[in-house]
Amino acid sequence: MADHLMSTYTRLPVQFERGDGIWLWDTQGRQYLDALSGIAVCALGHAHPGVTQALAEQAGRLVHTSNLYGIELQETLAARLCTVSDMERVFFCNSGAEANEAAIKIARLYGHSRDITCPAIIVMENSFHGRTMATLTATGNRKVQAGFEPLLRGFIRVPFNDLEAIRAIAATKSDTVAVLVEPVQGEGGIKVPDRGYLEGIRSICDEQGWLMMLDEIQTGIGRTGEWFAFQHEGVLPDVITVAKALGNGVPIGACLARGTAAGILQPGSHGTTFGGNPLSSRAALAVLDAIESGNLVANARSVGQQLLEGFRTSLSATAGVRDIRGAGLMIGIELERPCSELVMRALERGLLINVTAERVVRLLPPLITTDHQAEIIVEKVSELICEFLAE
Ligand SMILES: *Cc1c(COP(=O)(O)O)cnc(C)c1O
Repeated sequence: MADHLMSTYTRLPVQFERGDGIWLWDTQGRQYLDALSGIAVCALGHAHPGVTQALAEQAGRLVHTSNLYGIELQETLAARLCTVSDMERVFFCNSGAEANEAAIKIARLYGHSRDITCPAIIVMENSFHGRTMATLTATGNRKVQAGFEPLLRGFIRVPFNDLEAIRAIAATKSDTVAVLVEPVQGEGGIKVPDRGYLEGIRSICDEQGWLMMLDEIQTGIGRTGEWFAFQHEGVLPDVITVAKALGNGVPIGACLARGTAAGILQPGSHGTTFGGNPLSSRAALAVLDAIESGNLVANARSVGQQLLEGFRTSLSATAGVRDIRGAGLMIGIELERPCSELVMRALERGLLINVTAERVVRLLPPLITTDHQAEIIVEKVSELICEFLAE
């Protein structure tokens, strides 16, 4: 039936028809617990009443006008995002990759404003920043880049979680203008850097006059138990990019900046037709409302902790489990061997999970996950992993 779709995805043999909170129902009426949230997107779960009502109401009033005109909902959303992030200005777009494109363009303009003709951005091994030409160049995964050469110039790659490697670039490469890094690597396997890593990057950027740019597309909007992952370390970046959870499934991305970085884009230097239109802005405002009124950032922290402790209790002693790690509701269980078939086995048991970096079981349950649902997740996932490793 998918004959007319380009073969960009290997899809699982299931289609969902309806959702409610953490639950999904397929076309056969089978029920699933969604511990992946559409890859960290549906943080409020499915069919959230607040978002549904806001969307329906806005769809009946005004969907799109373009950025040729003022959009009050977009202005309100920008102000709300700046309040929770301590940033000053926002550019809205439609996806994560586009948010990173905006950040990359800001870094390059910033470089040129300082008379650097070939500005370079430091990026990390094992990172993921998207699938457009600039963001796949920034991505530290050969599989994402293969076949798309020539890649862009102006990126310098260093190992993740290695401040010395960044200092070495500072000492040798004078064209450097920015560091772009995920505070926790998501696609790369839920890699949590050492405490002090972001603080270290902040101080190198300050010394060198570089922009500190954080890709919070997966970590942002409460997922790690703070509004943004950088807030665990009390540092303030110059630029952050956000997307996934911002619209709970309505496509919207944002590039937030403060200080010099916030004033770099000018009329004519960047833009997008759809970005921040009334419909997506309204959806994102409803998302922020629901997170605040439901105290869901704190919930992400406590349920995330419960999941981590639960898995450590049930799996730490299991041969074949290499590491159990996480930040809030980003959980990774690394096995000693590739385990992609676990995704299908979980599906057969009514559970949606993901495997990334070949051997890391990745869980990204919604921020509305209850203690009881977390218990179910720990029980089911532990059982799956134990059975698999016993084979
Ligand atoms: C998902 C993701 C992206 C890309 O977002 P798209 O909306 O798919 O373009 C970029 N960076 C990170 C960290 C992500 O998790």
